[in-house]
Amino acid sequence: MQTVIPAPQPVILPVNKSQTGFPVRRVYCVGRNYAAHAVEMGHDPDREAPFFFQKNPDNLDPSGTFPYPPMTGDVHHEIELAVFLKSGGSNIAVENALDRVYGFAVSLDMTRRDLQAEAKKAGRPWEAAKAFERSAPIGPVVAAAGCGFLSEGRIALSVNGDTRQEGDLNQMIWKVPEVISKLSELFRLDAGDVILTGTPSGVGPVMRGDRLEATVEGLPGLVVSVV
Ligand code: MN
Repeated sequence: MQTVIPAPQPVILPVNKSQTGFPVRRVYCVGRNYAAHAVEMGHDPDREAPFFFQKNPDNLDPSGTFPYPPMTGDVHHEIELAVFLKSGGSNIAVENALDRVYGFAVSLDMTRRDLQAEAKKAGRPWEAAKAFERSAPIGPVVAAAGCGFLSEGRIALSVNGDTRQEGDLNQMIWKVPEVISKLSELFRLDAGDVILTGTPSGVGPVMRGDRLEATVEGLPGLVVSVV
């Protein structure tokens, strides 16, 4: 059908060593999924049910540049493993969840921490803190056929060469298959969905001029300049 305004472009992310791309449908994020990060944010690390929030597909940004956003003085880095789905469904059993996974990438859940603190205090939603323009720098998508199903390995982020965040994927409170299963109880998942799986401890502010280097063992690294 002809459209009354120009149709928005679909978001398509580069797939590693490939001329093809991964088309994005939705972006889900898991909150507090590493115990040490839950503690640093002032929460009990006990295995409470996972909770989710969303970013917008076009917040994903493979450019390697992060423009410091407006309306904040405290933007934090959160390195996360991103999971890409090739199929979905509702009420997916944990033991079938990995069948839905296309692949993985290194990502950053950039957060306006000051706006998040205000929202938490007022009991308001998090979008202003989380779902702003270019708030999710992301590395190339790697097919699980190439890297395997990542369940352990170092996840780390350095700022100007100093390590700030460091953990292991095996420290996730809710593992990737459990995250997919739980999320599918709330939403009907589908091909093109992307899940950011939470961050290890050590989150902190970035400044213009910083160089962020994000690594997950088994994936190509992600280097991001804050401008
Ligand atoms: Mn996060």
